[in-house]
Parts: sequence; C-alpha cells; structure tokens
Amino acid sequence: MGIISKVHPVRSHSNAAQGGINAALQPEDSWESHAYDTVKGSDFLGDQDAIEIMCREAPEEILHLEHLGVTFHRNEEGQLGTRAFGGASAARTYYVADITGQAILHVLYEQLMKHEEVERFEEWFTTALVKDDAGRIAGAVTRNIRDGSLELFSARAVIVATGGNGQLFSPTTNALICTGDGIAMAYRAGAPLMDMEMVQYHPTTLAGLGLLITEGARGEGAHLYNAQGERFMEKYAPNKMELASRDVVSRAEQTEIDEGRGFPDGTVALDITVVPRKRIHEALREIVNVGRDFAGVDITREPIHIKPGNHYVMGGVKTDINGQTGVPGLYAAGECACISVHGGNRLGANSLLDTLIFGRRSGQHAAASGRGLPVPEPAKAELAAEREMIDSIVSRERSGRRVSELKAEMGAVMDKDCSVFRDEGRLQGALEVIKRLQEEVTTVAVDDKGSVFNQDVLGVLELQFMLDNAECTLVGALERRESRGAQFRTDFPERNDGEWLKHINLTANGDVPAVSFSEVTMTQWQPEERKY
Ligand SMILES: Cc1cc2nc3c(=O)[nH]c(=O)nc-3n(C[C@H](O)[C@H](O)[C@H](O)COP(=O)(O)OP(=O)(O)OC[C@H]3O[C@@H](n4cnc5c(N)ncnc54)[C@H](O)[C@@H]3O)c2cc1C
Repeated sequence: MGIISKVHPVRSHSNAAQGGINAALQPEDSWESHAYDTVKGSDFLGDQDAIEIMCREAPEEILHLEHLGVTFHRNEEGQLGTRAFGGASAARTYYVADITGQAILHVLYEQLMKHEEVERFEEWFTTALVKDDAGRIAGAVTRNIRDGSLELFSARAVIVATGGNGQLFSPTTNALICTGDGIAMAYRAGAPLMDMEMVQYHPTTLAGLGLLITEGARGEGAHLYNAQGERFMEKYAPNKMELASRDVVSRAEQTEIDEGRGFPDGTVALDITVVPRKRIHEALREIVNVGRDFAGVDITREPIHIKPGNHYVMGGVKTDINGQTGVPGLYAAGECACISVHGGNRLGANSLLDTLIFGRRSGQHAAASGRGLPVPEPAKAELAAEREMIDSIVSRERSGRRVSELKAEMGAVMDKDCSVFRDEGRLQGALEVIKRLQEEVTTVAVDDKGSVFNQDVLGVLELQFMLDNAECTLVGALERRESRGAQFRTDFPERNDGEWLKHINLTANGDVPAVSFSEVTMTQWQPEERKY
C-alpha cells in the first residue's frame, strides 16, 4: 500500500482550508436538517443517497478527529463550539480558529506515521494511469521529482485523490498545485467526468490576487456593502442575508458590481468591524494577517474590498457512493470526485467533510476489492511512452511562447467567460481559445533541461491536464441550457427541472468529449423553489 503525492502531503491544498467542517452534532440539530440544507444548497442536483451518508456519518467523524487530536474550538462551557456558515439552518461548523484544514491535515499525517505498512512517495508526480489488457486499472506511471526518474507502479486498485482544478482560472483561491491532474488522468483512462460545468465562485476573495477571506467572517457576523453604503443582500436574500449560499451571494455581488454600484476596483466591501475585536483576534486571526499583508487593511478597523473569485469544483470524476469510477479498480475521492454531494453548489465547510467520509469509504472498498487478486503486471509500453513524451518536451528548442504565458491566457479567458455569469457566445469563444492552446502546448519547450526538481517540465504536464479540465468545463457549461447552482446562463436564466434535472457526463472520445446524462438520485426531498 502506498501514497503518492507531488508535494509533501501536509502541503496539500487541504492545508489552506480555513472556516471549518460541518456536522449536525448539537442536540437541537439533526442530520436530516444538514442533509436538506445540502440538497437545497446543491440546487437539487446533489445525489441524495450520498448526501444522506455524508450527513449521517458527520458527527462520528468530528468526534473521531477530536479523539485523534484535532484541537477543535471549545466554548465557554468547555464543549465543542460551532460557528454559523452559509446556507445552513443551524450553526454546525466546527473549527480550529481559521486554520481548520491545517489542524486536520497535520493530525492525519501524524496518524499515518504509525502505519509502517503504508509507503509514502513524497514529491513524486504521477503522469498517467495504466490499465491491463482487460481494461482494469493496473497502476500508474510516476516521476520522482527529486531525480527525474520515471517508475511504473503496479496496483490492484488506485484511488485518485488529487484535489481540485482552481488553477484553470486566474485568479483563484486555490494553491498552485490544484491543476486537476487526477481528473484529467481518470478521464484519459476512460472514466466519465460529471457536472464539470459546476464551478464555485466564492463571494469573498481579494481582487487581483484571489486570496480567500473565509466565509467564517460572515459566519461571525460581517456584513457586505456596495459603494453606496447599502447592505445589498437585503434585496437578494432577505432571510439569510450574507449567509445565503455561495452561488447566491456571488451573483448578488457581481450584479452590484456590473450595474455600477461597486467600487472602482470592481469590488464590494466586507465589513468585519461589526465583530468584536477580541473575537476577530481569536477566531479569524489568519485573515487579520491576510488583510494586513495583502491588502494593507486592518480588518478590525475598516472594511476590506472583495469580489467573487474561483474557489472550488463541484464536478469531477463520476463515482458511486463507494468511490468507484467507470473503470474497474479505479476510485476517486475528495474534490476531484463527483459523487455527487455538492450538485450545483457546495455549502461552505462541506468539502473537508466530503473528503473524510468518502475518502474512508473508497479506501475500505478499494482494499476489500483488491484483496486476493494477483498483483497486476501493467504494460511496460506505457512507461516507455511517458518517458518518450517527457524526453520530447525537454529536448525541444523554444520557438514560441512559454508555458506560463499559455497558462495565463487560459486563466484569464476562463475567469472572463466561464465565471459567475455565462452565455453561449462567450463560452464558445473560450472553448476556441482552449482548443488553440491544446494545439500550442504540444510544441511548447522548457528552459530547464535538467532532471533534478525540474518543475518546468511538470508545468507542461500540468498545463495539459488543465486544458483537458477546461475543455470539459466549457463543454458542460455549453450543454446545460439552464441556470442552476453555480451555472448561471444569462441566455437561459431559469432553472428548468423538466429538461435539466440531470447530471451531465463527459467521456473522452477523440477530439470532443462524448456527452451523456444520468439521473439525479432522490430519496426524500423533491425539488422546490430555492429562496434564502
Ligand atoms: C483557500 C481554501 C479554503 C478552503 N476552506 C475550506 C473550509 O473551511 N472548509 C471546507 O470544508 N472546505 C474548504 N475548502 C475546500 C477544501 O479545502 C478542499 O476541497 C479539500 O481540502 C480538497 O482536499 P483533497 O484531499 O481532495 O485535495 P488536496 O488537499 O488538494 O490534495 C491533493 C493531493 O493530491 C496530490 N496530487 C495532485 N496531483 C498529483 C499528481 N499528478 N501526482 C501526485 N500527486 C498529486 C497533491 O500533491 C496533494 O497531496 C477550501 C479550499 C481553499 C482553496
């Protein structure tokens, strides 16, 4: 058993999670309420069987983490304390100040050290998944970043847990490593992707840089104002106000900005000064630093300018409730997977939960399904093909643009034309740019010709993965001719349950992905009008 990660595991993007993790653990709360909020948050596109599992198992998971050593916030009475979060009908977000992800990831990594049977391949970069002749997953080709050697790993089962793809967009809240590698590798191996058009724009990010100001700020009571001093959420979500779901708040902000009621820098204001200073320093200390270091603003004394920014992908590799994809032996879990618990819009603090609950389930299922099977012998040809591909990138002389320039063009067009508001013309235009970049990337060269920590060459591989992701995002967004969750089509502004209460699946098929549909699983909640 082994874990491969292209960075040291505690540097995974989960480390950046600030606000918290949801569970209905308070006596007056219930898993049904958590599940209903999640279903409503998803704009009824989430699969309710998976949502039920996640919300039922959440309380146990929080206690488990606490017992492992995660120092969750405790209230004055010494009990686990919660904070309010968007789209939730009860305060059910457990947190460690605003470094919840870091706290959880470090504790889990410590626990991993106890298990000597699990080998760790830290700073190894997987370039491709490999199948056997029968079409079952047989392993992966992986590059040791330290010395550039390429190895063929054989495995009875592979779980892709490679995180999100926020780097398709510029700016984004996501770390530089969030390049959708696993989504693209699974897609290339024949696994269908689902709901790739569903991309979350978080309501409070810094303009230009894309840095996140946690939803915890609004959870603690912060308000949003336009440049005219109006608390504009009154118009859009009179009941939940700033704590409506993220798609709703981001659309409201973008509308204010587009209609000329924002600030000249294309932002609105987040006023955290309404939260007592002592509480800000206790519960939001990391964003005090972010405000000071990256915006020159003391958030305890003055409002900070923010705007909607790319944050999360609800879509990903289609899986069942045990993490199985369409390829035998291949599993997916975490942000790269689409089970789907988040449907059209993820609720804040439901993602860490998703990674834990379905990470465990896929691990258990993969272990059980592989038990007793012979260790497969993946075809050596794959290794040779990957080696040749990388050698050809390294040996090419530079004649055109750099990888960074191609990436910047992709990020800009995705952010301009595939963000909060979309329409056919702009999506089509963006797809043409992505298609052109897919051509151009095949001739791109690198300056670093060495083998030790050659990030340059990995940048090319990541860009190729990202372009596959971008293409699928745009194809899904063009296909879905309605507005639901994070997908708002100005040319189809209504949700259309009659035609579009279904998942969009994309399968690799030569030049353009093949489109098919699958049903949304419903258990107890029928679609209804969504108001906050
Ligand atoms: C700034 C920020 C704040 C957030 N705050 C919250 C929050 O408060 N609450 C919440 O619930 N959610 C939050 N989220 C979302 C949540 O953190 C993520 O969705 C979740 O942590 C993703 O976890 P993951 O395990 O799927 O992926 P990651 O944590 O991104 O891990 C992916 C792993 O895959 C490895 N990998 C990727 N590609 C390769 C490759 N080619 N070869 C080898 N290894 C590879 C990486 O090295 C890494 O170890 C936040 C996200 C961001 C960006």
